[in-house]
Amino acid sequence: MSTHSFTYAGGTVEPGTVQHTTLAVSETFVGGDVEIPITVVNGEELGPVLFCSAAVHGDELNGVKVVHDLVDRYGPADLAGTLVCLHVVNVPAYLAQQRYLPLYDQDLNRSFPGKERSTPAHRIANAVYSGVLTHCDYGIDLHTSTRGRTTTFHVRGQVAQHDEVARLADAFGANLVLAGVGEEENSLRTASTARGTPVITVEMGEAHRFQERYIERALAGIESVMTDLGMYDGERVEREWGVVADASQKTWVRSDEGGLVELHVGVGDVVDGGDSICTVHDHFATEEHEVTAPFRGVVAGLLQNPIAQPGHPVCHLVSVDEETAETIRRTDESS
Ligand SMILES: [Zn+2]
Repeated sequence: MSTHSFTYAGGTVEPGTVQHTTLAVSETFVGGDVEIPITVVNGEELGPVLFCSAAVHGDELNGVKVVHDLVDRYGPADLAGTLVCLHVVNVPAYLAQQRYLPLYDQDLNRSFPGKERSTPAHRIANAVYSGVLTHCDYGIDLHTSTRGRTTTFHVRGQVAQHDEVARLADAFGANLVLAGVGEEENSLRTASTARGTPVITVEMGEAHRFQERYIERALAGIESVMTDLGMYDGERVEREWGVVADASQKTWVRSDEGGLVELHVGVGDVVDGGDSICTVHDHFATEEHEVTAPFRGVVAGLLQNPIAQPGHPVCHLVSVDEETAETIRRTDESS
């Protein structure tokens, strides 16, 4: 094919060229544009269009660094297809360094595909969705845990319902895949996937940090996906173990008491049923309560802000079989 220009709300990008631009998606109180920084790397050869998006939650920074490194790493001569990088999706929240849009605490990641005439969150989501995401064939949306918690490196996606989502998740090569069904309604991922653009979410580490080991793993995963899609001639991620868990195989282990939390596990660790996750101490140092694992599993998420109240989620635990547990213990690189 002789021409494969990429056209979207940010203009037309010719084959073999790179566009760094900003796309207006809203306005500030004083009438200035709220602009998303976007890079489009349009390969010399024809191929699929893959988007990578970061900071849909404004304080989740690992993905911002992943996208930064991505646009530095791949040029048009390397690619058959188009890489569309949304460096920061939720600019107002990014400026405030918080998860949600300021003022009304609207969650942009529960507002997709958005509406033209609705709340600020719906309007921004609509501008991003119709202006950029609908022009892409596949997507990878980069997240971290919310502040006060951390999460092990994993992928979320509707792998059981959509073959192409399963393909992305498999190619990305994370050990742990959480197969979300009916969860995270109106997220960028579920809204796009439901409307024909398969998307996976990558979750990694903590908010407000650049965590190099996760950033490198995400970059390797994206290269693996691009290789699988035929966009790039690169390395595929080989993994030592893999678990795809549905809702029935995971739970939030919660404290029944309030107090100071002393953790006994790390994110990515394997625990057996009955193992202590943490001890909750009262402030007078007169009482302590153990919080134990209800089943054998891998610690997918963990409290970082070390105080708890009854019902407080301490540990996100995903069930694994004995063989997988042994492999994780042996490789010890799960986190
Ligand atoms: Zn997030």
